[in-house]
Amino acid sequence: MGLLAGTAWDRPPQCERCGQLESACQCPPAAAPSSLVPPEKQTARLSVERRKKGKVVTVIRGLAPEANDLPALLTRLKNACGAGGAIEDDGLEIQGDQLDRLRKLLAEFGYKVRG
Ligand SMILES: [Zn+2]
Repeated sequence: MGLLAGTAWDRPPQCERCGQLESACQCPPAAAPSSLVPPEKQTARLSVERRKKGKVVTVIRGLAPEANDLPALLTRLKNACGAGGAIEDDGLEIQGDQLDRLRKLLAEFGYKVRG
């Protein structure tokens, strides 16, 4: 006779999140928490700005780094515009005046667009 039979130590392991037995748990792996926000819940604010030496860039603000895969988004935008770009502190920057094109692209991706 096991002395521990019937005590808490004898219970099979349970998932902390759903309370199911771990063998029955359907929770997604904890290692990949996704905090990405769907594009349709975000508003991208576009503006064309002039930088040093007369360089013109189109800046996309309002898309939080933790809510978006910004590197992937930047790549898609750069490819579509055929222009260079970078992730800056306050948003994405695409070289040149790409206002019309970016407005259309971001709307296609599902974002609300202002500017
Ligand atoms: Zn679970």
